[in-house]
Amino acid sequence: MLNALSVDVEDAFQVGAFETTIAREDWDRLVPRVEANTDKVLALFAGAGVKGTFFTLGWVAHRYPALIRRIVDQGHEIASHGWDHARVFTMTAAQFRDDLVRARTAIEDAAGVAVTGYRAPSFSIDARTPWAHGVLAEAGYAYSSSIAPVAHDHYGWPDAPRFAWRPLADADLIELPVTTAKFRGRTLAAGGGGFFRMLPYGFSRWAIRQVNGEEARPAIFYFHPWEIDPDQPRVPGAPLRSRIRHFSRLAAMEGKLRRLLGEFAWGRVDAVVAGQAPLRP
Ligand SMILES: [Zn+2]
Repeated sequence: MLNALSVDVEDAFQVGAFETTIAREDWDRLVPRVEANTDKVLALFAGAGVKGTFFTLGWVAHRYPALIRRIVDQGHEIASHGWDHARVFTMTAAQFRDDLVRARTAIEDAAGVAVTGYRAPSFSIDARTPWAHGVLAEAGYAYSSSIAPVAHDHYGWPDAPRFAWRPLADADLIELPVTTAKFRGRTLAAGGGGFFRMLPYGFSRWAIRQVNGEEARPAIFYFHPWEIDPDQPRVPGAPLRSRIRHFSRLAAMEGKLRRLLGEFAWGRVDAVVAGQAPLRP
């Protein structure tokens, strides 16, 4: 079973958890670490012999075009994570369209290849954005991996399908939600990020085995380059809960990832999408 491996390429100061502490206008004054951290991810993937998908901010592609070319040259898929991490439910349909164009132009200019995949910042396509998949289809995207079908304080659409589905009757666009697992009737987030980093490795292994086995579906896993950077600067003014979530167990992350990459079969998201028989609810 080929599972989807994905990286959301953004700097630590761009995450939703710090948006009330660090203003967008200040991003250019902060010391960037995204390029060096993404190079560490590339080395990790090369060492494990795996390919993945890098959902990249247009903001990052615009500043580090050589990084984008290294990603593509090494056989990975380059895809869009929006321009500057504005969440979809904070935008109008027209603003979302503009954000997609701006990001894709920057990424394609750097990459020299077409972008056909999209992941919403903080899984921000949900019941509040019924127009979002229509805008993506109109823009020519083949797939979106933008929904977390769970209840969570920052994101989530608990009623959405857990596996690949076609959200539109008149378009082939596929939505590939991030992985969840079932435990005693509850749906648990199990697709990576902070859950993978903070919970014991065995939880993620159990969840992926459940999805691959009982459900006979691929896992859709994600993490961020800043999660393998234990030396990143702390953010003293940020809310305590955000700081705990962001900075916990960073030093253990790289070793856990290496274990995960060795234990399951991983590939690019577009390759996994191609092998799916999506539901059309
Ligand atoms: Zn993100």
